[in-house]
Amino acid sequence: MYAVINPATGEVEEEYETFTDDQVREAVASADRTWREWSLVSSLDSRIPLMRNVVEIYMRRRDELADIIHHEMGKSLEEAVGEVEFSAQIYAYYADHARELLADMPVDRLGGGTALVRKLPLGPLLGIMPWNYPYYQVARFAGPNLLIGNTVILKHASLCPKSSAAMEAIFLEAGFPRGAFVNIYATIDQVAAVIADPRVRGVSLTGSERAGKQVASEAGSALKKVVCELGGNDPFIVMSTDDLDEAVGYGIAARYENVGQICNGAKRFIVVDGLYDDFLGRFVEASKKLDLAPMCSEAAAANLSRQVHRALDEGATLVMGDPDNHGARFSPVILADIPEGASARHEEFFGPVSQFYRVADAGEALRVANDTPYGLGSYVFTTDPSEAEFFANGLETGMTYVNEAGADSAELPFGGVKNSGFGREMGVLGMREFVNLKLITHH
Ligand code: NDP
Repeated sequence: MYAVINPATGEVEEEYETFTDDQVREAVASADRTWREWSLVSSLDSRIPLMRNVVEIYMRRRDELADIIHHEMGKSLEEAVGEVEFSAQIYAYYADHARELLADMPVDRLGGGTALVRKLPLGPLLGIMPWNYPYYQVARFAGPNLLIGNTVILKHASLCPKSSAAMEAIFLEAGFPRGAFVNIYATIDQVAAVIADPRVRGVSLTGSERAGKQVASEAGSALKKVVCELGGNDPFIVMSTDDLDEAVGYGIAARYENVGQICNGAKRFIVVDGLYDDFLGRFVEASKKLDLAPMCSEAAAANLSRQVHRALDEGATLVMGDPDNHGARFSPVILADIPEGASARHEEFFGPVSQFYRVADAGEALRVANDTPYGLGSYVFTTDPSEAEFFANGLETGMTYVNEAGADSAELPFGGVKNSGFGREMGVLGMREFVNLKLITHH
């Protein structure tokens, strides 16, 4: 069911009809028509001003757009405004840099003649997106791909029907033709049919490992490219620092942004013995002062509570917090002493729960950090450059941030390895996922 259910109150504020099969087919047909009739004949130069219009509309309607996601998934208005602005920055970045990012790549031929690789669009793409950053997740996918000349079919989370409708309307208002960006309120079965449809040339999913396995296998059996941005269990390693309060501040921000519902949030704090007690003490004090917004739904908060109780049953110590949810509300919980072999060590806690690990040295820190099926982001705090290199090379993750957190930015590629998925969004790499890298030679 597609509906706006305000997690702060539990009230169903708006309901949206799920599409009929005919409506889904028409959406795919429209993305395909627009790809043939508009994308293939429109130039990059003509698409860039449309993307600049998108930026202008996001900024003009910033507060109204922020209010929509505040109601849909509960994030604070302040964070919602930040997300709208960041999404606008992403669209602006690709409008500003599309020419260089899509420039032909010349190849030095060994024999005579010339050769180059040109980045040409693939066609209609399906984007399956999650509720945690309703605008930002879509911007990472739609910004680059609409500039490339692909058309976009959006299947957003069922919690986000209003923001997805708002985005469809924004692209139309900006001057993109109908069909360049189409929103579908589809069931999972209908999504499978869209993935199998030969007119759809690629799929990008941001979501859970479970959805990733299903979507990737459906895309694989239809022989089409898929990018998967899945969960994470990111380590935050503290070996040495000139400023412990600053490191704690980064940890707090990286754990509690978006009420901890963030794929590359810091989830496991791995701290060297000499700093452990001090870091943990300051982290606990800072966590106590927080007044968090609700999680996205009561079901998500109840699921997190079940995970915390299971960790405690498995022998973990509750350092701080209430393991129970209250409706969609869940206040900070800190766990330590999670035994080897406990499932809690390996699963993702998608909410404000932190795990603490005391380690003797860098080798043990790396072993604990890599002891997870996930491999999205990682954070390392050290004053020793060679130790930073040791972790940057040894951490089995798609991203390592040294002495900082919250560095996500439009130009930086984002993505993971292992069960966190494959492919990259954003930056020079995100711009290469859904293109036909066509070789063109002249003799
Ligand atoms: P889900 O995977 O259930 O939902 C994400 C999206 O996938 C939704 O649009 C959902 O639709 C859709 N979906 C779910 N199952 C299928 C399927 N079998 N076929 C096609 N589409 C499907 O994730 P959660 O709601 O549980 O969200 C949290 C998870 O997402 C966390 O594990 C988190 O780590 C991960 N995530 C990863 C991010 C990243 O960038 N790597 C960012 C944000 C979240 P519907 O809502 O209709 O079920």
